[in-house]
Amino acid sequence: MTIALHGMGVSRGIAIGKAHVVKRDQLDIREYSIKKNRLDDEVKRFEDALTNARQQLRAIREHIPESTSADIEAFIDTHLLMLDDAALTKEPMRLIKELSCNAEWALKLQRDALVAVFDEMDDAYLRTRKDDVDYVVNRIQRLLLNQTPLIHEKADQRLTGYIIMANDLTPADTVLMQHNGIAAFATEFGGPTSHTAILARSLGIPAIVGLQNALRYIKDDEEIILDGSRGIILVDPERHELLHYQHLQKEEKRYFSKLGKLKNKPAITLDEVSIALDANIELPKDFETVVEVGAAGVGLYRTEFLYMNRETPPDEEEHYATYKGVIDVLKGLPLTIRTLDLGADKQVDGGRQSGPVTTNPALGLRAIRLCLKEPALFRPQLRAIIRASVHGPVRILIPMLSNVHEMQQVLQMVDDIKKELDEQNIPYDHELQIGGMIEVPAAAVCADIFAKYLDFLSIGTNDLIQYTMAIDRVNDEVNYLYDPLNPAVLRLVHTTIKAGKKENIPVAMCGEMAGETKYTRLLLGLGLREFSIHPATLLEVKQIIIDSNVSELQTLANKALKASNGIDVANIMRETTD
Ligand code: PEP
Ligand code: MG
Repeated sequence: MTIALHGMGVSRGIAIGKAHVVKRDQLDIREYSIKKNRLDDEVKRFEDALTNARQQLRAIREHIPESTSADIEAFIDTHLLMLDDAALTKEPMRLIKELSCNAEWALKLQRDALVAVFDEMDDAYLRTRKDDVDYVVNRIQRLLLNQTPLIHEKADQRLTGYIIMANDLTPADTVLMQHNGIAAFATEFGGPTSHTAILARSLGIPAIVGLQNALRYIKDDEEIILDGSRGIILVDPERHELLHYQHLQKEEKRYFSKLGKLKNKPAITLDEVSIALDANIELPKDFETVVEVGAAGVGLYRTEFLYMNRETPPDEEEHYATYKGVIDVLKGLPLTIRTLDLGADKQVDGGRQSGPVTTNPALGLRAIRLCLKEPALFRPQLRAIIRASVHGPVRILIPMLSNVHEMQQVLQMVDDIKKELDEQNIPYDHELQIGGMIEVPAAAVCADIFAKYLDFLSIGTNDLIQYTMAIDRVNDEVNYLYDPLNPAVLRLVHTTIKAGKKENIPVAMCGEMAGETKYTRLLLGLGLREFSIHPATLLEVKQIIIDSNVSELQTLANKALKASNGIDVANIMRETTD
């Protein structure tokens, strides 16, 4: 009999194959005492385990495939740093000596102490960091206990085509599995922003997370169907279910190969409205994909990666060289560089002294607020962008504006830098455009004021929804409220689009909402004419645009704007006007 399990689909696609269950058995850590004259040996045994753990992680780090997302690299780097942190290295050694106990026990005590500190934290993001402590501790414990590596921890083609079922996967696991050609992932824990989800999406592998207790119902080598769009797993499916999903899988493949042909087709609706489809990019290596999918340009280049895993922030020359390199790859396509958006969910070190732990980091010193407070961090980036503008079409995008004063300060800084460059005879594009992200409700409500001073606006729905609905975007407990169709969100989006029209400046959308095909028709109806989205979904959005009639969608969108909840909005958008 088929068993159906439900979780959260985080990477779409259908996989049919055998299950490989990754069970990290609860390690049996026992305390035993060590004689005084053997304590140095015990410390040495612990040090050796640390050295081996570092070697294992470094080996994985060195063989990360090109296609792996930067976040996964960052997770592994964090774990490597933790292996050098005194809290995990020196403290257990001290405990071995003080308590005359075995290394495993000392490490367990220290792990419990660290996790207790994380549990006390108010901030959901920091609370989840205790998983990282566990990943690292687990690796050391397994070495201390001489446990043999699990099958997926070795380069092993026997897993090719398998669907991996696990409680949770470490970032290192996901990299190793990537090498082994697995067909799909599913985990009992994790949310849409977990590294499993991020990796699966960047690889285009179907994945489901949050399948609580699923491992109880699945055995190794059992046949399963995983539907990453709907978040469903069917264990031991009946023949008719298998045939149905095989059919869906074929349809999916056909659909994607048809999409590939759209690359060079213009994004024009049935009633001849031309739409700009730009790409969102995070890493220089991703720029090739912009050209591959035929994007009109880059609507959002997130520059935070430049600050990841380093002790000092990048200087002007490093910024300049990076942007120039990117402009060269784009060969004349416009590039929108978003200035630094550090803080809250984007906790990269970047050589900044970590500030005080705040209760609500998303409402704290992040993005433009941080940049204006620390001009030494911001100015080199601004100067580098302005200098790079001489090499190709570049625009500056300012994140998280909440009042006009912030915008005026940035415009003033840009003017000062331009004067300075003039004096130094350094060339730049005198027409360089400056735009602002509308991602704080205060800015959306007053979008007409911003539109008077700026050259373009870009709606960041990821944050706009977070702040409008008062939900932390990384907190799984409240993500049910994260609804792009909520009337409050729609009205703010509509207000912003109208403000741009009134002042005759372009308004783009660069949040995830713009790349989700289920919202494309509504956004067209609301008047959006510029979408900036992940290259992976660009062609799907283009297909919907090509099949749409804007004048018909405007009627539906006007109706949707009067709806009282998101479900009614979705139903209205399913209607047609004839
Ligand atoms: C947004 O908030 O919608 C956005 C595009 O910016 P980020 O996701 O980088 O905060
Ligand atoms: Mg944002």
